[in-house]
Amino acid sequence: MRVRGAVCCVMLLALTAHGDEADYAIARAAMVDEVYFYATLARDTGEAALNEDVMQALGTVERHEFVPARQKPFAYENRPLPIGYGQTISQPYIVAIMTDLIEPGGGDVVLEIGTGSGYQAAILSALVHHVYSIEIIEPLADGAAARLARLGHDNITTKLGDGYYGWQEHAPFDAIVVTAAASHIPPSLVRQLRPGGRMIIPVGGQFTTQQLLLLTKTDDEKIITRQIAAVRFVPLTGEHQDE
Ligand code: SAM
Repeated sequence: MRVRGAVCCVMLLALTAHGDEADYAIARAAMVDEVYFYATLARDTGEAALNEDVMQALGTVERHEFVPARQKPFAYENRPLPIGYGQTISQPYIVAIMTDLIEPGGGDVVLEIGTGSGYQAAILSALVHHVYSIEIIEPLADGAAARLARLGHDNITTKLGDGYYGWQEHAPFDAIVVTAAASHIPPSLVRQLRPGGRMIIPVGGQFTTQQLLLLTKTDDEKIITRQIAAVRFVPLTGEHQDE
């Protein structure tokens, strides 16, 4: 794993809503360096902070394609941005660590809850065999499906629905990525995780501290939970009840 160079802390580029591809590419590279820098700070073991494949996906997927026109100048800032309907595209650093923690492999089938803009799904699609993604807000679901098709992500299947129940038809999943904060861990998602699988999920209320949890299902179907970090996500909505 090569050590990344100096972090570009100051974004010298003034990207416009119509920034050209070269400007975006430079801004994206700076964003990747910044994400790596923060991941290194968070991990004090001396190990590589993030898997190189994850960094490469982050450096390839064009975040400016996933944000509304007026947000494009800020597309490569390391922060969440509004995507409409009170929702956000997640902070690149959080996308990176969530992706890294599920240890994506080339043969994996992954479920994402909360398609939003489609950005997290696009990052996953570069790393795994197939991504299934569920979004509860119809215009976001439609917009993401059209965007992902236009950008050529042909290993992503999306649907409109309440992700609390998962997607039984395509289970079990090697990994599940939940990108909205749940009040508790949805039992259906645990059931749909294959033995050996990993789930990353923010848990907590809208106005209380949320914890990003990594769940691993052992081969004998026990759940091991690791607390990763305090985070802030929009809530997992829907009228769902435990089954
Ligand atoms: N992954 C997204 C991306 O890359 O742009 C960002 C996700 S945003 C932080 C959370 C998303 O979860 C929102 O689009 C929201 O509408 C969606 N969501 C909330 N509750 C949901 C549910 N029960 N089922 C599916 N999606 C849900």
